Amino acid sequence: MVFMPMIKKILLGFILTLPLLGLGACSVNPATGKSSFTAFMSPEKEKEVGAKEHPKIIEQFGGVYDDAELGFYVARVGANLARFSEMPDLEYTFTILNDEKVNAFAVPGGYVYITRGLLAIAADEAEMAGVLAHEIGHITARHTAQRYSATMATNIGLQVLGVLGSVAGAPSGTGQLASFGAQAALKSYSREQELESDELGVRYLSRAGYDPDAMTGFFHKLKAHSELEAAMQGRKDKSESFNIMSTHPLTSERISEAERLAGKAEATGNLRGETAFANQIDGLIFGDDPEQGIRRGRVFEHPELGIRFEVPPGFIMTNSPSSVIAKDGDGAAVIFDMAQAKKVRELGGISKYLSSININGFKFRNIEGLDVNGMNAVTGTTKVGDVDVRLLVISKNRDQFFQLLFRTESKRTAEMAVPFRRTTYSFRQLSEDEIAAIHPLRIRFKTVGEGDNAEKLAATMPMEKFNLQWFELLNNIKAGDVLKPGSQVRVIIE
Ligand SMILES: [Zn+2]
Repeated sequence: MVFMPMIKKILLGFILTLPLLGLGACSVNPATGKSSFTAFMSPEKEKEVGAKEHPKIIEQFGGVYDDAELGFYVARVGANLARFSEMPDLEYTFTILNDEKVNAFAVPGGYVYITRGLLAIAADEAEMAGVLAHEIGHITARHTAQRYSATMATNIGLQVLGVLGSVAGAPSGTGQLASFGAQAALKSYSREQELESDELGVRYLSRAGYDPDAMTGFFHKLKAHSELEAAMQGRKDKSESFNIMSTHPLTSERISEAERLAGKAEATGNLRGETAFANQIDGLIFGDDPEQGIRRGRVFEHPELGIRFEVPPGFIMTNSPSSVIAKDGDGAAVIFDMAQAKKVRELGGISKYLSSININGFKFRNIEGLDVNGMNAVTGTTKVGDVDVRLLVISKNRDQFFQLLFRTESKRTAEMAVPFRRTTYSFRQLSEDEIAAIHPLRIRFKTVGEGDNAEKLAATMPMEKFNLQWFELLNNIKAGDVLKPGSQVRVIIE
């Protein structure tokens, strides 16, 4: 997480509605050749909307990834693809988000985003170009414009409801959104829109001289990644609904369609750009960036905030720009974020701050002060329906106030009391030495030596689990594949 107070919003909730934009006239789209009669915006309006959303998207998705050279590279590849689209004169903006999740999306006005998590798993430049071309397709087919008004109106509300739901026990469907944090702000495209963008993507990819099969190659990668991610999170259901590309549902139909389209592509280039891509992503941060806090097993450490805590066994943490949410899959949750320092000071301290909070009419009771490893803290409880909520507010100094919210269904509150208490007292400040010792994981290319195999190289990677699966995914290999001595492979190093 970065610095952004959230619990206030979580607790109070808010409803946001945006006026729906008026219906546009019937027009023919140059990319799809179809007549559309939808709530299109004028190109000027699209540009205006995109420019307004751009900084918000950056803030919500972890900021811009701090590597200017890599940024220029992605922009160069993207601009070259856009040149071959039906809207070559639109001014496109390509941004790498400092987000470990695998995602890409576009907003109206030519804004295209790709995460560093996606770059980590793309095999080569052609696969990355396939993703960019697909996003450009959403722009040229005007999907981004079509859905903008509805998406922004419903999803901002939903996202807040999602987080609120996880606290107050709203329907489980909305709670799911919270665990994906800011991703919820972007709705899925329809099946038709995805197929249309794939078709346009293959078109631009092949016109730019790339191997059009790269699109399908990346789809397979995405499938493997979402299965690995589901396994890491201990999910029993490995169905496609858990695909991290929640904005672009990946179906078997899309894969076979993309294969068919690549087979009849108008140009048959074979550019893959393996070396250029490898040079660019060598050293890329993998997993959490210390700037946003690092998860290692059950421990969360934030070097900039200078704090750490540990969640109970069996809890899986999700780190979003505004909060850290840990859930046990059984309705219990721990939510960490910061309180607005100004607000706390205005109200006259953490105790008064806690008493001032109001969840739909429910207020915190049983307020008591405590010492959490040398820091002043205050805690209180409330009951919302059959859900018990305990909020802990910790004061590190005049400017930094942290909150840990513990949520359980009433029937499990007694059972969770001890594990939650351990989490409370695991919260402490990091020493200078501990802060200095926190480094992100990175991708490095390594030359395969005589006698090296996947198991051996995977075992050198500093992850807790699933090393071999990650090694296979990052290197596009299957179990049992033999590595060629002298070839380059991706490994994760600390
Ligand atoms: Zn899509």
